[in-house]
Amino acid sequence: MAMPANVKTSPDYPVPEKMKAWVLGDPGELTLTEKPVPAPKRAEVLVRIDAVAICATDLEIIYHGPPALIEGGAPYNKNFTPGHEYMGTIVALGPGVDEYAIGERVTVEIHAGCGQCKRCRQGMYTSCHNYGKNYGDVDKGHRANGFTTDGGFCEYQVNNINTLVHVDDAMSDEEATLVVTAGTAMYGLTELGGLVAGESVVVTGPGPIGLLGVAVAKALGAQPVILTGTRDNRLEMGKKLGADHVVNIRNEDPVEAVRRYVPGGVDYVVECSAAPNAVNEAAQMVNRGGKICLAAFPHEAPAVDIAHLVRNNIYIYGIRGEGKSATHRAEAFMRQKRFDATLIHTHSFDMDDLKEAIRYAKDRVEDAIKVVVKNKHAASQRAAAE
Ligand SMILES: [Zn+2]
Ligand SMILES: [Zn+2]
Repeated sequence: MAMPANVKTSPDYPVPEKMKAWVLGDPGELTLTEKPVPAPKRAEVLVRIDAVAICATDLEIIYHGPPALIEGGAPYNKNFTPGHEYMGTIVALGPGVDEYAIGERVTVEIHAGCGQCKRCRQGMYTSCHNYGKNYGDVDKGHRANGFTTDGGFCEYQVNNINTLVHVDDAMSDEEATLVVTAGTAMYGLTELGGLVAGESVVVTGPGPIGLLGVAVAKALGAQPVILTGTRDNRLEMGKKLGADHVVNIRNEDPVEAVRRYVPGGVDYVVECSAAPNAVNEAAQMVNRGGKICLAAFPHEAPAVDIAHLVRNNIYIYGIRGEGKSATHRAEAFMRQKRFDATLIHTHSFDMDDLKEAIRYAKDRVEDAIKVVVKNKHAASQRAAAE
């Protein structure tokens, strides 16, 4: 067996010494190769990866680099395995771990953080001050799957127990990969104050986070929830996830439409579009004292009407990822069937066909939203264990 003596394993879940893993070469270049199966250390478990969703941030990392940071630099030609929205089954426990059991299904958050900096200690581990410092003589133990440490486009990965979220048996593997996306939307609404019951929310941009932002806002009791975007099929999906009104900004001015539905303006905007004028429009949509959460990052630096923000006491929050254990709250909503996140899962591929899966996600082939790759060996192992 590959695992050290202080790691607990079970004959029901045999752990091989080597695994298949995708690694990143030059920008855009992925190769299927073999790596040793990593061993969990203190406060870590080994997860057999059963399914991974592809995220727009994976595409950013694979083609452009940031926010990945490997050994202080770009992630290219460093034997790095990307992929961060994965779920699976625990197959080995590091020394001292009794919080989880072998055989338990989990989905994972991306950021473990370093656990020792000011922000980690506040629960803001997605804003860890030691981001990427996990090598050589700057080893602060920072971990972020598929960003600063190896991720999920492989068969096994180690995870800090702080990143694990238990998955209910009634939830499919594909649905479980969406917990972290719903968790990001939940984190945004948490930062806006969390108590949005009876208050009005606009979500701009019906990508995966925007669509699940609608779902989470509705589950939290917001009313009305208004979704803006450019594609009718996505807006229709937003209605199924709980939007009371949708606005196609190709057909009507979004600010006028929002102010028609909610005279005086809404309480909150969750900005998920990254459109150049999005902040200015959001500032026109909220009422005085309203709050805006920015969950998408534009590539350029847009001009913003600061005076309007100041005169109207408008708050703006940037959020990064899924902090403050928001994934646990998102998973609870999904377990209670408060919304059907699987509506945004459109395609599945075998892990061996990752390149084709990425093409679907990148080029939005057949209107792809969330594309999931699955580990076919996991299904047979699961059958054998039962
Ligand atoms: Zn993601
Ligand atoms: Zn930290």
